[in-house]
Amino acid sequence: METRPETPLETLLEIRGLEVTFDGFRALGGVDLSVGKGEMRFLIGPNGAGKTTLIDVITGLTKPSAGSVVFGGQELVGRKEHEVVRLGVGRTFQTSVVFEELTVLENLDLAASFRRPLWSLLRRRRGVSEAVERALETTGMSALAASRAGVLSHGQRQWLEIGMLIAQAPRLLLLDEPVAGMAQDERARTGELLTEVARDHTVIVVEHDMDFLRRYASQVTVLHEGKVLMEGSMEQVSADPRVQEIYLGRAREGAEDAVR
Ligand code: ADP
Ligand code: MG
Repeated sequence: METRPETPLETLLEIRGLEVTFDGFRALGGVDLSVGKGEMRFLIGPNGAGKTTLIDVITGLTKPSAGSVVFGGQELVGRKEHEVVRLGVGRTFQTSVVFEELTVLENLDLAASFRRPLWSLLRRRRGVSEAVERALETTGMSALAASRAGVLSHGQRQWLEIGMLIAQAPRLLLLDEPVAGMAQDERARTGELLTEVARDHTVIVVEHDMDFLRRYASQVTVLHEGKVLMEGSMEQVSADPRVQEIYLGRAREGAEDAVR
């Protein structure tokens, strides 16, 4: 069995005692999570486990009632969303942020400009910036650069969104269910894309499709009812009776995230 060497990674994200309550309902009940620089961590768990809420807290969208999120040595709790982006945390949303009337290239260029100072936006630039070029290459969308985003397939649109994140040169990427609604060939392409992105980024991927996880996940954190149930390699996690129970239990109820 292939295991990672036990050399300690430099910690990029350190979450401690995170609690979130919505009208008395505890969506997160004391989450601790450390992610090392350069890691690709999969965050899994059934619907309602608190995965999106955790991403919302990291990115400043949701305020926790307790706990801390330290990113690159800086506390993120209490910061506004745009400050978190500026510190180098990029995320995808479950709803699309692509401008349909603009081309793929224009969408990427706009995303890349997000962290540029205002004066540089006022200057007319010729050609394609290095950040945009890199995003086009990584996502394999160079041939679609001049296409209007509105004509893209669902999968291509997801890749564009990942490209838009890369163009912002984040230190941490948070991807919330990037293969949801994708056909099988698009899933495979996305798995390869994530592997490629993870070569030079730290990435947290929320996913609950077991087939996809078995193929592309190595380090996995399982969230269940607002708490970390366990952490380990995909082999360890998928062999754990508690994990099998929460997934198979759902399967018996006929939930959509059934293990096949
Ligand atoms: P996941 O992404 O793992 O499916 P979520 O983080 O979206 O789960 O949700 C965790 C729990 O918190 C769910 O029970 C959900 O209904 C609840 N929840 C999430 N956001 C809100 C909100 N804004 N107001 C009230 N309850 C919420
Ligand atoms: Mg979610």
